[in-house]
Parts: sequence; C-alpha cells; structure tokens
Amino acid sequence: MSLHEAMLYEKLKDKKTKCNLCARRCLIGDGGTGFCLVRKNEGGILYSLVYAKAISACVDPITKKPLSHFNPGALVMSIATVGCNFRCQFCDNWMISQEKEISGTNLPPEDVVKMARENNCQGISYTYTEPTIFMEYAYDTAKLARQVGFFNTFVTNGYMTPEAVKTISPYLDAATVDFKGGADPEFYKTFSAVPSVEPIYEALKELRRNGVHIEITNLVVPKVGDSIEKIKELATWIKENLGKGTPLHLLRFHPDYKLTTTPSTPIETLEKAYLAAKNAGLDYAYIGNVPGHPAENTYCPNCNELVIKRYSFEITRWNLTKDMRCPVCSHEIPIKGKLHPSGYSYPYALF
Ligand code: SF4
Repeated sequence: MSLHEAMLYEKLKDKKTKCNLCARRCLIGDGGTGFCLVRKNEGGILYSLVYAKAISACVDPITKKPLSHFNPGALVMSIATVGCNFRCQFCDNWMISQEKEISGTNLPPEDVVKMARENNCQGISYTYTEPTIFMEYAYDTAKLARQVGFFNTFVTNGYMTPEAVKTISPYLDAATVDFKGGADPEFYKTFSAVPSVEPIYEALKELRRNGVHIEITNLVVPKVGDSIEKIKELATWIKENLGKGTPLHLLRFHPDYKLTTTPSTPIETLEKAYLAAKNAGLDYAYIGNVPGHPAENTYCPNCNELVIKRYSFEITRWNLTKDMRCPVCSHEIPIKGKLHPSGYSYPYALF
C-alpha cells in the first residue's frame, strides 16, 4: 500500500491526528483510519491511502456533471478514487464510493493530464466519489492541469471545511455541489449518515468568496425527500447567498444500492419542484435525468426566449450572441468560459 502524507491535518498528543479536510474532522488514533477509510494514521502521521490510485478514468461531456453554465460543450477527463465521507443509501456509484478495500490503477497527476490531452478534453473533473477525501491527488493534478491550460471542476457533496475550500480554490474553476432530499437535515441523518447540513452552506459561501463558479443539484427522492417546501427553502437560500443566476438542477432519483424499492421520481413532482425554484426567484432551474424534458433547456429570464436547447448531455441548439446575450432582448446570460462547439461526445471509460 503506498502512502502519501495528508494535507490539512493536526498532530495531537499520543500520536493522535485530527483531519481537517471534511466537516467530520475525524480524530484518528495511531493505526486508525478516518470515517472515509482512505486516510490512515501511522505513527502519528496522517496519510492518504489513495494518492494517484484511480478507480475510474472516463471522458465525459461537461453537461453530465452537471455544469450547464460553464464552458458549454466541453469534454472533461473524470477521475475518482475509492472512498467517501457520506453513506448515502441511494448512491449510484456505491461500488466505488463504499468500497472498503483500497484498490485502483496507478495514475499519477502527469498521466491524468496526458490522458486529458490525448482525449481532446478541455478540463479535468474530480467526481463519481467525493473529491474532498482524495484532496492531495486532486490538488496536485489540478495544479499541473492549470499550468498547461486545463480547467478543473469538483463534483462534491459540499461537506468540506473552509480550509479545504481555501486550499483547492486557487486551482478550482467550477464546483457542482450536490444536495439530496431538499437539504432536509433529517433526510441527511437517516439516509446519508450525515449529522448536519450546516457545513455545506458554509462551504458554498467560501467557494463563492473564492470566485469558484457554482452549480447546485438536488436529488428529489420520492416520499422521503421530495418536500416542495424544503426545495423552496433551498432555492431561497441559494438566491439570497449565491445569487439568482446560480443554476439549480433538480435531479430525478432512480432506485439504486439500498433504496431499490423506492420508485423513480414522478415527473409531476420534478415539475412542482422546478416551479418552486422559479417562484423562489432563481433564474435558471433545470430538471435533470429526464432526457427530452423542456426544463433541460436554458430560457432567457427576461423574455423567455429559448437560448440553449439540450437533449440529455448534448447541446442541440445554441442561440446566444458571441458575448453570451439573448439574441432577442440582449439580456446577459451568465455563462463562464466559452462554447466548445465540437466538443460533444458520449461518455466513455478509459478503464
Ligand atoms: S476526509 Fe475522511 S478522515 Fe478526513 S475528516 Fe473527512 S471522513 Fe474524516
């Protein structure tokens, strides 16, 4: 097993350590591991067990993250290691996020960047499992990637400490922050083993202060996590703290892992959630995981012109001026980066 000394930890008495990467802030005794199982104390020094150990490497359209207002049409090299700091009973990547054995292919940061170049990507995404728990690997890769002109994006549950946000932010261009069940604290406790959602809000504010582009998702889980009132509260918080131009993606749940008897989210519920987000004052609400739904598209919030038409991960019509304005009323649509017109490709795995 290869060891790489961890970032952001404290050495305490009696060879104990405290990890300050995620909001669990695990106290780890000599020989022990943190909640995520991928950070180990050996003789009073905390190590990452997953540095450069990629469990997957795939080429994805950036819309899959989802990022709809950031470098549209771009391709990203997606990487992940095993491990997670959540225990979501509905995780669709549970085979790798909840894996207890350290496994993966040796893929150092320079090889990630090389693969990104060879596959015509414009950026790197740290995704599938929680990137906070493989921060050292993500940090070194992101730094190198930035030096040679790639952008970097996190797909994260947002349970990061402010210190972790500040550490990665100089190299992080965008973050998709995933809520579940309308951010209901009881839902998080019951279905994800997460004691509090407050750290996620703090991390979002820190990402905002550090100039990282933010898009938010919320997984709408039928019966147990589909309160329209909670979704409205979440949308209101987003508007008041991150701005009304922040995209909110309302994602359809599909049965997976331990929640196999819960049905997929009814489209009607997603549409109610979409209306609640719009009524709360957000300019850009989306329905995700429902290919062909009109709420996959971007509409001008001023005149309702359809400005970006999508089908699943694909942009099928681009109707914005070169300076990202509505062609009818000239309202500016907040898009960071540029259009990559020929970038679309179906996702494919490299291993
Ligand atoms: S990253 Fe892992 S070890 Fe560190 S605080 Fe979070 S769960 Fe604990």
